[in-house]
Amino acid sequence: MAVINYGRKNSKMKKYVYSFAEGDATMRNTLGGKGANLAEMTKLGLPVPQGFTVSTEACTAYYEDGGISDEIAAQIDEKLAELEKINNKKLGDPANPLLVSVRSGARESMPGMMDTVLNLGLNDVVAEGFAKITNNERFVYDSYRRFIQMFADVVKGFPKSDFERKFDAIKEEKGVQFDTELTADDLKEVVEIYKKAYKEHAGVDFPQDPKEQLMEAVKAVFGSWNNERAITYRRLNDIPGSWGTAVNVQTMVYGNTGDDSGTGVAFTRNPATGEKKLYGEYLMNAQGEDVVAGIRTPQPIATLNEVMPQCYEEFVKVCNILESHYKDMQDMEFTIEHGKLYMLQTRNGKRTAQAALKIAVDLVNEGMLTKEEAILKVDPRQLDQLLHPSFDADALKSGKVVATGLAASPGAATGHVYFTAEDVMAAKENGVEDMVLARLETSPEDIEGMVIAHGVLTVRGGMTSHAAVVARGMGTCCVAGCGEIKVDEEAKTLTLPDGTQLHEGDWLSLDGSTGNVYAEQIKTVEPEISGDFGTFMGWADEIRTLKVRTNADNPRDAHTAARFGAEGIGLCRTEHMFFDEERIFNFRRMITAEDVETREEALERILPYQQSDFEALFKEMEGYGVNIRFLDPPLHEFLPHTDEEIKPLAESLGMTFEALKARVESLKEFNPMMGHRGCRLSVTYPEIAAMQTKAVIRAAINVEKETGKTIVPEIMIPLVGDVNELKYVKNVVVKTADAEIAAAGVKMEYKVGTMIEIPRAALTADEIAKEAEYFSFGTNDLTQMTFGFSRDDAAKFLSEYYSKNIFESDPFAHIDENGVGQLMQMAIEKGRSVRPGMPMGICGEHGGDPRTVEFCNKIGLTYVSCSPFRVPLARLAAAQAVVKQGK
Ligand code: PEP
Ligand code: MG
Repeated sequence: MAVINYGRKNSKMKKYVYSFAEGDATMRNTLGGKGANLAEMTKLGLPVPQGFTVSTEACTAYYEDGGISDEIAAQIDEKLAELEKINNKKLGDPANPLLVSVRSGARESMPGMMDTVLNLGLNDVVAEGFAKITNNERFVYDSYRRFIQMFADVVKGFPKSDFERKFDAIKEEKGVQFDTELTADDLKEVVEIYKKAYKEHAGVDFPQDPKEQLMEAVKAVFGSWNNERAITYRRLNDIPGSWGTAVNVQTMVYGNTGDDSGTGVAFTRNPATGEKKLYGEYLMNAQGEDVVAGIRTPQPIATLNEVMPQCYEEFVKVCNILESHYKDMQDMEFTIEHGKLYMLQTRNGKRTAQAALKIAVDLVNEGMLTKEEAILKVDPRQLDQLLHPSFDADALKSGKVVATGLAASPGAATGHVYFTAEDVMAAKENGVEDMVLARLETSPEDIEGMVIAHGVLTVRGGMTSHAAVVARGMGTCCVAGCGEIKVDEEAKTLTLPDGTQLHEGDWLSLDGSTGNVYAEQIKTVEPEISGDFGTFMGWADEIRTLKVRTNADNPRDAHTAARFGAEGIGLCRTEHMFFDEERIFNFRRMITAEDVETREEALERILPYQQSDFEALFKEMEGYGVNIRFLDPPLHEFLPHTDEEIKPLAESLGMTFEALKARVESLKEFNPMMGHRGCRLSVTYPEIAAMQTKAVIRAAINVEKETGKTIVPEIMIPLVGDVNELKYVKNVVVKTADAEIAAAGVKMEYKVGTMIEIPRAALTADEIAKEAEYFSFGTNDLTQMTFGFSRDDAAKFLSEYYSKNIFESDPFAHIDENGVGQLMQMAIEKGRSVRPGMPMGICGEHGGDPRTVEFCNKIGLTYVSCSPFRVPLARLAAAQAVVKQGK
């Protein structure tokens, strides 16, 4: 978690606005990704409509100053004048008007999160003049109505749907189906209606001064950096709020001037599969938003070769130049105006995990990238996608395809259907686990619902629609553009082509790899891993130095983790081995026992489970380290709750129901997370530590005998805050272990370590290291206790912290480097000052967070430990850390 710092150094004479000709790709931090790439394309001599970029630093200044300062406004004026000169046109000049687009562009692309205004500079007078010059009234008023609508929506935040409804009403009145069928006069009418609607919302007329339009639009882009959607997107994608966004002001070129014009988006390789083949779509006589919004269905890019062969040929050339220049798959936007090609944007394209791996491996094989460079091309979080379900082949055979849309984002999803993101979220709160979101089309407001849903189905939109791009990025299955079904979002119904109607909550299954839709529940299965994944992960393993272990408390999880490449178990939470009914019964006998004999008797019954579990874990890990954490049950999670649970327990303990109930009451704590847990339990009841030690050592001896592999068991004492607690428990462990080893007549090495999860343990790590042979950072508790936030309750108020910009992310998900991280560094230093080279790991949830893994690499941990499904992610993040940090 980073603290937000809008700090601005000396603001005097600072340059805030850059023409495209003044920048290049290295200036991403200042110009944002879009601005830097527009500058780079300009430098490469590609056909880019010229413009200028108002920098991210101007955005920072905007927030500091509470508006656009005179200095920045003057620099914008200056660059605008330059642009007018280059184009030989003037903003607001009816005889020769300059029209511009205003678009956001942060350092990292945030698709759909920030806002765009096109056709800026139009007003009543300019429109009239422009219509005369172009001799194309229809085109001009089409552009003007789009501008009013975008300005109203993006700059002013008036409801888009209001304008859309009015537009649809006109189409109906005129008896046409497509926008392109409206005449110039129809569109003039739309402009008048829109201006009236604008005035109704704003209370003032639509601004006729183009300068005012421009400044308002720039402000709106800056403002949108801190809208709710952008904040959520940043939190989900680890983008710091302090970066700010740049604003790009670019000369308009038009794809909607007639049939010799068009606009499109394309990728140099297939973003779903990685196949090396130009991939994309375009629409003739349209503006960019038409392709992205999915209102009309675009054509595949290859067919442009038939419509405009020269343009196509030039475009292919540009694609090749860009891909070899950036050494990565490019995602480009282009416009053709009266047969001339213009490049509006290029960026490294978003892709599925499968595609990312294929492209990375291919680019190394093609000699374009080194392995180290290739490693950086895959976002570790994306690997999750490869580990997600597909349909069970047998179950799928009997499934009936009821509709087919575009296979927009791979994977399989099955769940109850909901028609709004809010309904998905509400269903989750009500305990529904499997949900699918069905929409006419998605918009950025739907993002939280899309995160929760297993899959997304849209009626409209192509492969580059919002739903497709965002779902692909998240690894969520998506079927887009399924025009053969009808969705009524208000009535919450979905009508299939055969007329069958589904209602909210009915089962729906989606196959994002084929585009098939099923009106039933279909079993899903886990994915297979092979091919490019193995090659790529092999490179990551060659590069990384940080080890990756897993948190696993049962053989199944340990097996999964081993398959994903885990190099041992970093945390086995032994209390998790008691969730089964019979086991928890005996566990409860143990914790409610009033005397040592009864407790020892309960422990005797528990011992065989523990031993056999440990044996299974040792076997799964085939000689890799297995770190067994002794019991750390927050008592409230394990005490019997109901009378039905207390009754049989009382019987078996030979107690009355009342007596046991009173005992349970007496064990209840006000603050169980800070209560009688961890080593405190073994201090009170040393027989617990003794039993667990016996189970560990006996299991290790048995498995060593059986497999012939040397096992060095690791025994970890939790929740230590003072070295004397550790000393006490360790003494019990060592005595018991040595006695077991001697009794078995074998030689066995074992290690006793501790968790560092209480701030005092970090502060006194040098004292603790005298007793502990290794440390493992329990950053869940360390975060809880460093912040004083209950790990069970903090989520309730942390959402306010994000929306109020107090925190950017959840400190329980990303390590708080400034606070918790500092304690970790201190403990490492102090610990190793006493015990040089002391092994140290992390086993809190943070161990599977890529940013935290990088931090762990930097501060010199030996390993990270995370849940099985995050092991590949941690392996890759560890390799990336080496490349980025040079160590
Ligand atoms: C921790 O506190 O980070 C930890 C791994 O232990 P637990 O989550 O079991 O408290
Ligand atoms: Mg803990």
